[in-house]
Amino acid sequence: MSQIVSEVVAANAQYAADFGEKGKLPLPPGRKFAILTCMDARLDPAKYAGLAEGDAHVIRNAGGRASDDAIRSLVISHKLLGTNEWFVIHHTDCGMQLFDDKIISGLLEKSLDTATIDEHGWHDHGAGPGSVHGHYVKWLSIGDLEASVIEDVQRIRSHPLVAPNIPIYGYVYDVRSGRLIEVPEATAAGRPA
Ligand code: ZN
Repeated sequence: MSQIVSEVVAANAQYAADFGEKGKLPLPPGRKFAILTCMDARLDPAKYAGLAEGDAHVIRNAGGRASDDAIRSLVISHKLLGTNEWFVIHHTDCGMQLFDDKIISGLLEKSLDTATIDEHGWHDHGAGPGSVHGHYVKWLSIGDLEASVIEDVQRIRSHPLVAPNIPIYGYVYDVRSGRLIEVPEATAAGRPA
């Protein structure tokens, strides 16, 4: 077993030992809201937004972007599980600001191994082979941080399967301070009809 696997299994044994009444939680989120946010390891939505098990849906992907799959989850979250307020939360120093479609596709074309970045940009060190399939993917990288929050709130707001009465709030999480900073233009775009 890898070291990480044994650590995870041991941590879980500890968690399950103190599980208590959480086994009786209902499936729909008790506080009826959902957060779409980045997978960045420094972000812990349960801590930064004060969530306990059973409180809210947290949908995570690279960037916290409103991808088709994120919207699929949000639609299920409301339609079948009753959430009626949504947050889109991107963050400072996001890895998605460090590349664009052309850069990642070029790196993947060389090899599938982990690349590195320095002041001159990205470098691929893998032996290859890579794959051209990256050129067919929209990677949803981020240029301007606030603009990406606004864009994603607008995209969710205008989606035909999203109920118009759900407010969608836009925020940026600051990885230096732990603070959530509202993007007023995003929240305005997400105002319920
Ligand atoms: Zn990120």
